[in-house]
Order: sequence, then C-alpha cells, then structure tokens
Amino acid sequence: MKKKILGGTGIKMTEMTLGALTMGPLQAKLSLEEAKKVILAALDKGINSIDTAEMYGMDGPIKAALAEYSGEVILASKSTATSYSEMEKSVLGALSGLGRDYLDIFYLHAAKVTPEVFQERSGAFQCLLDYKSKGVIRAVGIATHVVSVIEKAAEVNEIDVVFPLINKRGVGIVGGTAANMVKAIEIASQNGKGVVAMKSLAGGNLLGEIKAAFSFVRNIEGITSVAVGMSHVDEVEVNFRLFKDEDIPESELERLKSTKQLFVARFCTGCGTCVKACPNEALAVIEGMVVVDKNKCILCGYCNPICPEFALRLV
Ligand code: SF4
Ligand code: SF4
Repeated sequence: MKKKILGGTGIKMTEMTLGALTMGPLQAKLSLEEAKKVILAALDKGINSIDTAEMYGMDGPIKAALAEYSGEVILASKSTATSYSEMEKSVLGALSGLGRDYLDIFYLHAAKVTPEVFQERSGAFQCLLDYKSKGVIRAVGIATHVVSVIEKAAEVNEIDVVFPLINKRGVGIVGGTAANMVKAIEIASQNGKGVVAMKSLAGGNLLGEIKAAFSFVRNIEGITSVAVGMSHVDEVEVNFRLFKDEDIPESELERLKSTKQLFVARFCTGCGTCVKACPNEALAVIEGMVVVDKNKCILCGYCNPICPEFALRLV
C-alpha cells in the first residue's frame, strides 16, 4: 500500500489507517482474541497505522497484537481531557495501555466543539505540547467534526495534524458542507498540517456506495491517510483491495453492507442525557422518548454507553 509523509511530521503512513473504534466496546464488542485477529490481519496486509482513543477501550487488544508483530506501527490516540492533569493521565494511560514508550500522534478529541477549544482546553493542549518536547509524542493534533475548528487549527502553529470528519455526502459534518470541509482541509494542508480523514463511509451509511465514497476522500488534496473502522478480517481484505484499486465486483461488496442500526428501547425515559452526548445532533426527545435522525447519525456509538437506562443499542 502507498505510503506518504504526514505533513511536516516526518511520519510515513500508509494510505489506510486501521480505525479501532468499530472493534471495541462502543460498537462490535469483539473479544480480545477476535480484535487481535483483525488488527494482525491489517498489519499483515501492510497497513502501518492504527488510530484509537481513550474512550474506545481498545488499548488491550492493540497491545496484544503489537506483541505478535515485529514491523513498525504508527500509533495515534486521543483524549477528551480538558485540564493539564487529566491529559497527563490520558497520555500516561495510553503509553502503559498500548505498551509503548512513545506515541506517534496524540489528538485533542474534540468531536463537537467551537474554535475556542484551544483556549477552553489550553491546559490539556499544553500538556500534549510538553510531552512532545520531551519526545514522548511525535505529533500533536486535533480530531473534530467541525469545519470551523479545522479552519482554526490550520492557523495554530503548534498543531501538527488535523483529523477531520469528511465523506462525500457530508454526513456528520458540523457547521458546513462536505465542500466547506474539503476547503478547510486544503488550507490546513497548505499550511503544513498533516491530514488524516475519518468517517469516509459515514459510520457504515455509505457502504452501499463504497467505491465512490473511498474515491471521494482519497482524491482530496492534502489527505495522507484515511482511517477506516473495521471489525472483521473480510472487511480488511476488501478494503485493502479497494485501496489497491482492484476492481471488485458489486456482488462481493454486497456482503459488507451494514445492517447496523441504533435502536431505542421502549423503556427510554426521555431524560435527554444522550442528546447532549451526540456530536452530530442526531438525537431529539420527542413526546417523552428519544428519536434518531438516520440522516445525521454516523453510528459512532458515543451515545449508547451514556444512557442510564441502557435503552440505546447499536446492533
Ligand atoms: S445518535 Fe449516537 S451513534 Fe448516532 S451519531 Fe449520535 S452519538 Fe453517534
Ligand atoms: S439517555 Fe437513555 S433514557 Fe435518556 S433519553 Fe437517551 S435513550 Fe432515553
């Protein structure tokens, strides 16, 4: 698989990054052994980059897979921490959880924030910069769904990498269209930032048009790598072949189509806790019960563990 240098970081990444969210407790809930198999399948294909986050709960399987793999692997993680001490705990936790003495990229996990995030979370940001100075983190970034945050990050000297949500239909993009995000990405790249793309398949919503969806993101100027969430070795195989530009018959792609949906159980109390947790404004309480807007939901799974009634299920 093609490798490119990520902006000004010197980090050489494959065009595809393995996204860990889909394997973990927020989504497919794979066992450690099952997840390890998927991770090793991706690494064996030559994918050299893995993206995870503190909230994905995937450090254990990644560490276990790395123990059985001798090649170089680019590791990225992220945290929603706001203060210096919280972020320090996240960084140290990731190092120990992943079994590494350094991390290639550490992002401010900032799905739905405003451009003021750099001031509002200045302690957390400073912590990442300090750990970069110590050589523990190679590159500091921000992961977000918001167009104006990418625009702001493009101007922040200390940001090395941006990790925007982008897909051809613009599903999940906050504060703009796909075209607006593409423009923001181009400016960030021109300003020397590395760019890794997320949600190119909109959490599985674009599996029915997977070739066009990948092609759209792969052709955006400035993107070095596309993080693709996978939870089965068959997905690794097919996605790898698509990124090698193999012409895969539609019939073979059919079996990848997602049957995943977010269900709301009848015992939802309408408390609204999950509404605030959704980064994409896909939930609303209507007549005492939460309702999912399928056009906005990217099946990220951030909402279901938050429900105090266990009324949300991503299945
Ligand atoms: S409704 Fe839940 S799964 Fe859908 S986008 Fe919002 S947080 Fe993610
Ligand atoms: S958090 Fe749970 S109970 Fe509350 S509105 Fe959401 S689904 Fe319903």
